[in-house]
Amino acid sequence: MGSNFKIETKCIQSGWQPKKGESRVIPIYQSTTFKYDTSEQMGRLFDLEDEGYFYTRLQNPTNDAVAAKICDLEGGYAAMLTSSGQAANFYAIMNIAEAGDHIICVSAVYGGTYNLYAHTIRKMGVEATFVEPDISKEELNALFRENTKAVFGETIANPALVVLDIEKFAEAAHAHGVPLIIDNTFATPINCRPFEWGADIVTHSTTKYMDGHAVAVGGAIVDSGNFDWMAHKEKFPGLTAPDETYHGIVYAEKFGKGAYITKATAQLMRDLGSIPSPQNAFLLNLGLETLHLRVPRHCENAKKVAEFLKTQDKVAWVNCPMLPDDAQYALAQKYMPNGTCGVITFGLKGGRDASVTMMDNLKLAAIVTHVADSRTCVLHPASHTHRQMNDKELLEAGVQPDLIRFSVGTENADDIIADLKQALDAVK
Ligand SMILES: *Cc1c(COP(=O)(O)O)cnc(C)c1O
Repeated sequence: MGSNFKIETKCIQSGWQPKKGESRVIPIYQSTTFKYDTSEQMGRLFDLEDEGYFYTRLQNPTNDAVAAKICDLEGGYAAMLTSSGQAANFYAIMNIAEAGDHIICVSAVYGGTYNLYAHTIRKMGVEATFVEPDISKEELNALFRENTKAVFGETIANPALVVLDIEKFAEAAHAHGVPLIIDNTFATPINCRPFEWGADIVTHSTTKYMDGHAVAVGGAIVDSGNFDWMAHKEKFPGLTAPDETYHGIVYAEKFGKGAYITKATAQLMRDLGSIPSPQNAFLLNLGLETLHLRVPRHCENAKKVAEFLKTQDKVAWVNCPMLPDDAQYALAQKYMPNGTCGVITFGLKGGRDASVTMMDNLKLAAIVTHVADSRTCVLHPASHTHRQMNDKELLEAGVQPDLIRFSVGTENADDIIADLKQALDAVK
């Protein structure tokens, strides 16, 4: 399916392939519906006997062309877009788990994902066990149950910046006949392609580096096609037993390597409808066209900013896995030798109050609830996303009260550093 081009070329060329006389640039199919000549033709689409578009709640050609590009970037077999990263992580699990099932999730994950798996899907009957990223193989193996359906983690966690030992988790998942699902949002396929390390399914919040300009919330799910559902027939009846809502087709038999994404589209998208607008997919594609140029620049700038912060007396600590003295350096070198991401975290000796003063004095870096776009931005979880917690609760949630999440943009690093310097000067 995919191309043999290098990743830089894929960013620009993959996905939309115009035929004679067609639009060179991916067109926005701003249409809810698609026309057919006969009733029979339309009927075959509803039986999944023919491929084709009929209603944009399930599929749209613009979205699919952009999904195909992301699929090619990850080296996957099939992919789909979702309306947000949250929807992607929800679908990724619920496509193979149902009430009574269990998943294993690494604890260092995005807060929204934690809430989704710890609370929301729990109310739907799917229980998650959270594990520390540095859990031993023996302890990890002991946590699998008969009803465990997937293992989930992030390549590099937002905001903990912990690098996942993907091979360790892939081995354990496969030894127990379940897929490893990796949220590759922060690394992007430019810095890491989890399928090359044994992951089976990759998800993204495309809202972050893929869009890169903070204009469109979105998500994606990519399937490697490598997981053999039929070899674990009993565990995954949704894929290996007849779907009565489509006249008894068996996804794994009829669609082979495409079974997982076909089912997620034909069932979950049909019933839950978390599809992005084609307009947003178009914007995402523009972002993807420069992903290979922006990501290295984000990393280069982040490293410079982290190195600067390390020289500052008022700074207590800095997390940046690209620096040799970082606790995550060895894993980062293995999985992301060209760089991790543009997000770094740090704390000030003056604690929470000093963090607030410093942030209020930043002029270039903006205080926003976002990360990973071209404009440098900053967030203080203790004052913002986690503000209802006291210091003790914050520590339990793995967020130091002084932790500043600093998303280094693609501006000139000297200007970002000068901004931080003057803001630190304001801290007494
Ligand atoms: C932001 C984020 C999400 C959620 O994505 P939305 O697009 O905001 O729904 C999921 N995972 C990670 C790692 C994220 O950074």
